[in-house]
Amino acid sequence: MDFSLSDELVELKERTERFVREQILPYESDNRQTAHGPADELRRELVALGRRAGLLSPHVGPEWGGLGLDHRAKEVVFEAAGYSPLGPVALNCFAPDEANMHLLEKVADERQKEEWLRPLAAGEIRSCFMMTEPAPGAGADPSMLQTTARRAGNSTDFVIDGTKWLITGAAGAAFAIIMAKNDSDALGPAGATMFLAPMDAPGIHIERVLDTLDR
Ligand SMILES: Cc1cc2nc3c(=O)[nH]c(=O)nc-3n(C[C@H](O)[C@H](O)[C@H](O)COP(=O)(O)OP(=O)(O)OC[C@H]3O[C@@H](n4cnc5c(N)ncnc54)[C@H](O)[C@@H]3O)c2cc1C
Repeated sequence: MDFSLSDELVELKERTERFVREQILPYESDNRQTAHGPADELRRELVALGRRAGLLSPHVGPEWGGLGLDHRAKEVVFEAAGYSPLGPVALNCFAPDEANMHLLEKVADERQKEEWLRPLAAGEIRSCFMMTEPAPGAGADPSMLQTTARRAGNSTDFVIDGTKWLITGAAGAAFAIIMAKNDSDALGPAGATMFLAPMDAPGIHIERVLDTLDR
């Protein structure tokens, strides 16, 4: 396999490096940075800079407002963005939103993409990913999931019961991808399944926000 970079990719890499160094690095001392990352106002300001530089959401297809890079090109641009912890924020490719965009682009239906992927790729909303549970629930091993999902009657809606923790960015997220286990039925198989839920769905309750890594 040829791992040499095309001229266009080298240009994009250098443009990303320049952008992060010249426009984003100065924000590292901004007092709107918190122990939980940049405040939303600062995040939006950085996203606006990323958009103006033509670098927003490099991992998402152009039809959703991104650059549509392949895996190899993503690696190059993500590395350049990572020169500052705020670089991936400005490019809208930070965790867990980057992975959630990838997931939605691959498996969501058109209605879900319009409702959730489009604003997420535009940096208008944030999301979170809920897998980890307090012991004896799932952490590294998803087969230990304790959270259950049962179908609400005959519909495509589910009732989810469980407790999650260590969920990055849960406070302020517009939606969550929740991992839960469900039984098989006529409409689908059993096992660990990812559910898309708006964070204002009835029953979602944030108990506490743990302080983890400070700057
Ligand atoms: C800063 C931070 C942010 C996080 N953000 C999120 C988030 O957004 N969403 C989310 O869902 N989670 C999040 N997590 C949780 C993270 O995904 C879990 O901590 C991780 O999956 C490990 O799970 P655990 O802590 O329960 O450890 P455990 O699963 O108990 O693992 C402990 C050790 O046992 C090993 N181990 C576990 N199971 C097996 C096995 N079957 N075979 C062999 N070895 C095994 C592991 O490799 C590890 O060394 C976050 C954690 C941190 C620290």
